[in-house]
Amino acid sequence: MTPHEPIEATEKLFTRIRSRDYQGWVRLGTYFLIIGVFAFLLGTHRLDRFEDLVRDGFLKHAAWGKAHPDIVLIEISETSLDEIGPWPWPRSYHAITARLLSEWKAAAIVFDLDLSEPTDPKDDADLAQALSKTGTSFYLPVDLKQQKEKKFWLHGMPVVLDQGGGKVYWSHAMPEFEKQVRATGHSFLTSDSDGVLRRFDPFIAEGKERRLFLPLRVAFDQMKKPIPLAEEWGSFEDHRGKVLIPWSEVWDRGFVRYNYADLIHSFYAIQKGMRPVMDPGKIAGKICLVGPTASGTSELKITPFSLTYPKIGVYAQVLNAALTGNWVRPVPFLGNMLCLLGIGGLTLVLFVLLPGAGSLVAGLLLALGWLAFCFVAFAKWHLGFYVVYPVLLMLCLFIFSAIYVQITATRERSRLFHLATRDGLTDLYVIRHFRLIMNQIVMESKNGKQPLSVILLDIDHFKKINDTYGHPAGDMVLKKVAQTLEAHIRRKRSFSQIDFAARYGGEEFIIMLRRADLKEAAEDVAERLREKIAALTCEWEGKPISVTASFGVAALHPGENIPDPMVRRADAALYRAKDNGRNRVCREDR
Ligand code: GH3
Ligand code: MG
Ligand code: MG
Repeated sequence: MTPHEPIEATEKLFTRIRSRDYQGWVRLGTYFLIIGVFAFLLGTHRLDRFEDLVRDGFLKHAAWGKAHPDIVLIEISETSLDEIGPWPWPRSYHAITARLLSEWKAAAIVFDLDLSEPTDPKDDADLAQALSKTGTSFYLPVDLKQQKEKKFWLHGMPVVLDQGGGKVYWSHAMPEFEKQVRATGHSFLTSDSDGVLRRFDPFIAEGKERRLFLPLRVAFDQMKKPIPLAEEWGSFEDHRGKVLIPWSEVWDRGFVRYNYADLIHSFYAIQKGMRPVMDPGKIAGKICLVGPTASGTSELKITPFSLTYPKIGVYAQVLNAALTGNWVRPVPFLGNMLCLLGIGGLTLVLFVLLPGAGSLVAGLLLALGWLAFCFVAFAKWHLGFYVVYPVLLMLCLFIFSAIYVQITATRERSRLFHLATRDGLTDLYVIRHFRLIMNQIVMESKNGKQPLSVILLDIDHFKKINDTYGHPAGDMVLKKVAQTLEAHIRRKRSFSQIDFAARYGGEEFIIMLRRADLKEAAEDVAERLREKIAALTCEWEGKPISVTASFGVAALHPGENIPDPMVRRADAALYRAKDNGRNRVCREDR
């Protein structure tokens, strides 16, 4: 090692530290970029669909209490249709139901029936009269409907007069019914974009009137509480102003249900002086939701729990939530954003601080911890956090981290390998590594019976160069000679064909030539290299330095399986080249 090598090494070290700093910033910057992307996604609700799916799962497992015992469903089910006859039924049946339920002291009767169009005048009058005499709280829905296109048929071809244009209109029950009831409420439900019903609008404005969702209206009357202002719903609403339906149980398992037909049978039984099929005591004080549950009589909704969910089932759920106070409170946007940023920051710190596998475990635990916390918050305090955004953020940070660590580890390995096998000044192989390669290749060429030669060269009067121009000049010459060697041996080929050059000692170099016999190595390669070195233009502080080198060439003899004798012969040849006047190539004696 020359006195200058430590300086060079230190400089290299500093460059490396600087480039590491730079890599660190890139890494940190990318982390922040990923967090920023997720903040944007959260702000624009891009992944809400996944949130919904997770929320569905939470709802299924949260087990929020039982269905309220005061809620009773009176179903127009398949059985009722079998017993009474095909739909639609004459309205006199609904009149019977209304009379019977109020006689049996139902607390409230909610009809989920379309009473908007007139039918048989006698039946309509019968129902109107029944409603006026019920004396209990009677409720009817008002629905928001899509305008159907108006068309007529001409020679079998449809002629569209008015497409409806997505216009909506309010569909009320006929005035003679509506004016008898205690109150109306809206019954408009829209599913999410994936076709699943999860939310309802607490209020919809009809002109100046504010229509409360029908079951809510019933619930507040029953609880004798004033109807809350629209603003008071704020804490239950999500960013779309909708409220999540907190499904407590599947409707047909959770709630008390009776058959509509049984009511009709009971009515006729009482008239004939017989015992009614249903026990009137089961109706007293109950909120009765009357409506179709059979397919074909109503539009059934898909919910997180089942593919068919009747509207009275939805009413029952909302009524249940209002009576028990079991609402989901969505965490406000700011809260979710802070959670996202906090978790992103924590993940980042974990990944930066902990090495390799430690960060993997920590990241996994953090994600699981977050999931568990969200579920507990949901099940216990009914708080709806955004779960998916932070989890996906952690996942992305983790994937990036893993890729980054992999890349830097690979780079570091190759850097260390280079450092361990290359000479600091000339960047040629160090002799230790060269010997390993040489041993390996001697074995190979012996097996493959291919010629192999080495060239040993030593710069002539190098001491004089050092003495005349100084050590730095000598270093410069060494570098130039090394570059010349590298440039004129076979390097840019497949591994099995390339030649290797190494720094043998101070100003001596060694080259291994594969598939070259003694003649080729001496006459073609060594001679060419000698000429190239002699032709080098080296200059130091404006003064030209002339450089020459002497070469000794030897080849592997048959039967030799270690390189050392060959190198010794090359060394002897080099001595002869020096003795014979330098700047020449000598071959081994044969
Ligand atoms: P000859 O033609 O007989 O080879 O003469 P020479 O002067 O080259 O012979 P010698 O081997 O005695 O001198 C080699 C010199 O090279 C001695 C040493 O100071 C110098 N040297 C060895 N390594 C380095 C190096 O890394 N940098 C510099 N500048 N000089 C070096
Ligand atoms: Mg020398
Ligand atoms: Mg020497």
